[in-house]
Order: sequence, then structure tokens, then C-alpha cells
Amino acid sequence: MKQQSTQKQSTQKQKTEQLLLSAEVLCQRRGVRLTPTRREVFSILTEQDGAVGAYDLLEMLKTEVPNAKPPTIYRALEFLQNQGFVHKVSSSNSYVLCSHFEKQHPVQMLICGHCGNVQEIHSSGIHKEFLAQAEKEGFTVQQQTVEAVGICANCQQAD
Ligand SMILES: [Zn+2]
Ligand SMILES: [Zn+2]
Repeated sequence: MKQQSTQKQSTQKQKTEQLLLSAEVLCQRRGVRLTPTRREVFSILTEQDGAVGAYDLLEMLKTEVPNAKPPTIYRALEFLQNQGFVHKVSSSNSYVLCSHFEKQHPVQMLICGHCGNVQEIHSSGIHKEFLAQAEKEGFTVQQQTVEAVGICANCQQAD
């Protein structure tokens, strides 16, 4: 049992390392800096199963950066969002790591109300249709969020 959990931890660590590496490469290419704080927030997010609120993230960040304050976390999150590494879940005011941030993509989110897991779908069809409908109303979309709350496949099986 103990061995199993150690194994799980090292797989998680590898996953975090890999994600950090690709984020670093992207930042370098874009000429932006993944500062130690941004890096830390990013790696915390790689370890979460679902979306996490800013204050919970702040508490976790404090173990590494004891003097972190709310603006610290909000600035880091804003940066990560701008780089497309993190999506904001507006309906629960929380943040989730993007499942494939190497590519810019339209995103729609499926949020499990039971376990909090957030699954991304990338439908350019939904995105285009949304923009087309907005245009019909003479509306210019600056930012678009499509979120659905329900029960994920795992939780349905567990019931
Ligand atoms: Zn994404
Ligand atoms: Zn679930």
C-alpha cells in the first residue's frame, strides 16, 4: 500500500515536471517570464484534481512563499490565464489548469457538481456559432465562457 502511494507521488511529480518544462519553453518563445511565484502557482495547479479557488491556492502557495498576499496570487493567476495555461471557471470563481495549453483553443467546460472535476471540450463549432449569434445582435464578444454544471462519468459510475 505504502509503495503504491509513493509510486503515485512520483508519477505526479513527473507530470508536474513535464508540464512545467513545456510552460517554460512557451514562455521563453513568447519572451515572458515564468517567475518563481508564477511557477509555484502553476505547479500547485498541476497537482489538483479539479478547479481551485484563489484563496485555497493562496494557502497552498504560502507553504513555499510565506509572505504571499492576495494580490500575489491574483497577479500570478492573471499571467497564467493570459498565457492560456489556466482557465478561470467563472461560475465557481475558481481556476483549473488547461489540459493542453500548447495550443490556443476555444474552450467549453464541463464541471462536475459532485467532485468538482473540470473537463474541457474544444468545439470550434460551438465557438463559431456563439460568435455568429452575437454578431447578429450587433454584439462584439471580448471574452466568452461556456460552462455546464452536471455529474461527470466517474461520479455517475460511483452512484
Ligand atoms: Zn484549455
Ligand atoms: Zn464527478
